[in-house]
Amino acid sequence: MAQRVHRTCSLCEAMCGLTFEVEGDRVVGVRPDEDDVLSHGFVCPKGMAIPAVQDDPDRLRTPMRRTAAGSFEPISWEEAFALAAERLLAIRKQHGSDALGIYVGNPIVHNHGALTIRAGLMNALGTKNAFSAGSQDTSPRFASSYHLYGSSFSIPVPDVDRTDYFLCIGANPYVSNGSFLTAPNMRARMRAIVARGGKTVIVDPRNTETAKDSSEYIAIRPGTDAAFQLALVQVLVEHRRIDRDWIARETTGWDAIERRLGAFTPEGVAAHTGIDAATTRRIALEFADAKTAAAYSRIGVCNSEFGTLATWATDVLNVAGGRLGAVGGSMFPTPAMDTAPVLERTKADGHARWHSRVRGLPETLGDLPAAVLAEEMATQGSGQIRGFITFAGNPALSVPNGRRVSRALSNLDFMVSIDLYVNETTRHADVILPPAWGLADDHTDIVFSNVSVRNVARWSPPVVPQGENEKADWEILLELTRRLGGGPTGNAVLDLGFKIGGVFGLKWTPELMADIMLRSGTYGDKFLPWSNGLSVKKLREHPHGIDLGPMEVGIQHRIRHKDRRAHLAPVPLLEALDDYTEKVRDVPNPDELLLIGRRELRTCNSWMHNVPALVAGRDRCVLYVHPDDAARAGVRDGEDALLESRVHTGSLRVQVTEEVRPGVVSLPHGWGHAAAAPWQRVAGEHPGVSINDWTDDERTETVVGQSILNGVPVRLHPATAHETAAAS
Ligand code: SF4
Repeated sequence: MAQRVHRTCSLCEAMCGLTFEVEGDRVVGVRPDEDDVLSHGFVCPKGMAIPAVQDDPDRLRTPMRRTAAGSFEPISWEEAFALAAERLLAIRKQHGSDALGIYVGNPIVHNHGALTIRAGLMNALGTKNAFSAGSQDTSPRFASSYHLYGSSFSIPVPDVDRTDYFLCIGANPYVSNGSFLTAPNMRARMRAIVARGGKTVIVDPRNTETAKDSSEYIAIRPGTDAAFQLALVQVLVEHRRIDRDWIARETTGWDAIERRLGAFTPEGVAAHTGIDAATTRRIALEFADAKTAAAYSRIGVCNSEFGTLATWATDVLNVAGGRLGAVGGSMFPTPAMDTAPVLERTKADGHARWHSRVRGLPETLGDLPAAVLAEEMATQGSGQIRGFITFAGNPALSVPNGRRVSRALSNLDFMVSIDLYVNETTRHADVILPPAWGLADDHTDIVFSNVSVRNVARWSPPVVPQGENEKADWEILLELTRRLGGGPTGNAVLDLGFKIGGVFGLKWTPELMADIMLRSGTYGDKFLPWSNGLSVKKLREHPHGIDLGPMEVGIQHRIRHKDRRAHLAPVPLLEALDDYTEKVRDVPNPDELLLIGRRELRTCNSWMHNVPALVAGRDRCVLYVHPDDAARAGVRDGEDALLESRVHTGSLRVQVTEEVRPGVVSLPHGWGHAAAAPWQRVAGEHPGVSINDWTDDERTETVVGQSILNGVPVRLHPATAHETAAAS
């Protein structure tokens, strides 16, 4: 008889509850958990596809070593660990710590085991050459929060369940299911805003799935979100709609911003943003007049040329409108496991504490911008990356100028990948260490309770037993860390404590770390046996999770600056603002064509395309082109065309649609699987093309140096058969 196991989905930030039906070590069914305290029965197609990953015959089950012929052969765990450690240590001995580099993919943020060992691994590596998916799309948010509130993880979240006016910029929550906004079923939540008499406004260069279902859609030119938002602030100032008492009490630096707003009148930025001044003025006053209102921006904004400035401007708008920390506004959660103090203790948090060797771009939250990855591998000299680790990441598809990244990976002295698959990146690895699929381990969300619309806590048990020859990802990272001479915490005293404690049975585990965070946190039992507070043990008794209430009013509980005030005018942002003031006057070239990305419901970044149900149906990897631009370029719907950027010219299929504004073309990310076709047979039959073949690693955002993935200048040409063959 099948057993039921309740578990949180760990694929995206929504943290939906799932109920698995299990027979022995096999998942025989999955369905939404109607009793889950946060998702209440919501689930998306990716969550329902989890058993297909478990059963995927192409998923690696044993360590692999690359052969001289470029294929892979199975080896034992001992052989794999020994080879990886020997080669990495040899590179470090000969060339120094910075000759080692690491790229960590997005799945780590959904994996408490890997997250809790990360500091130990980084300490053991001792390199400044760390990169992550976050340094591809989130550094502007981290840097803004770090400067504004004193912690990269003090992130305000729109109180969508209580707001009357939701201004959503550069985000598509119907498809993303929320990004730094953990709120499963955003469709229902946004419809509820309208149903209670409120309004939802989407600002985006594309009339997205979310925009089509919203009260109003505003088509903005890519990369101009900062100007639009600052113009909204300027209108609030002009109409004396600012709560100056609150600002004086809770913040510093307002005057420095106000002095600079003269350059951002709605009329002055209209040509730049493509939004007429009357619309900007109307939206500003609607935002001010609504009983409650929240402004929110995300990846479309982060990934643009002025991404940090635009992210910061969202928070400034919320401050100006009296919406920061107010019910129905942009509020701070009170997480059961608070990431901010852990980052402080491990000295992981910060911005611009060191810079990349070749181009001098700054780190953010310990990671260098992934845009410099290829040049740090390819440029000779001291500190050149020669040995590389990837963890659940696919930089060949997710980093700009992916073909250059791929060439750089192929020229490394040694590469080890911890990954479920041979993919476009791990095909270059010398050794692949495949973890057990996450269903075989406990799960809890450390990161996303920090950005959840409702404070909740959950602990999920394993769904299936771990196989005899399987290891959890954290076990693999722990073993690598130890063989590189480090310990699990990265703190010499604590690591020694665990070593000595091991004699008496005290073992470092992710569960122990999570339990300490939980018990010492706001809702924790503080290790008092008589307390009713939270612990892992208590969460285990509540398989659908525990609801801890709505977000708290005020901002001081999430401010880490000593004065407990939001610092609105940090130097890097003011400098960026001054630079930008010149640029908002530029008149856009009427012939410009800017490439933007696109997220899809059935795509999980660059993976899960090997699941048949997620690639079935029409070809989704097509370039959206506005009819005016298609006519001008001479390309036709359903036919191939040539897309040209500074770094690549390649063929792709065109879909002519008014969904994008004129001057904008859009391609989804995460595709381009031709190179991995021998190892991922389903994905290989639906390869698509990678948008990051066209994005440019030389063009970076102004404050954090992150790749510009939205607003890439391109040209479009008709493809003759000869040109198509030559470009592919
Ligand atoms: S929305 Fe995200 S968390 Fe929910 S089922 Fe889908 S992938 Fe999983």
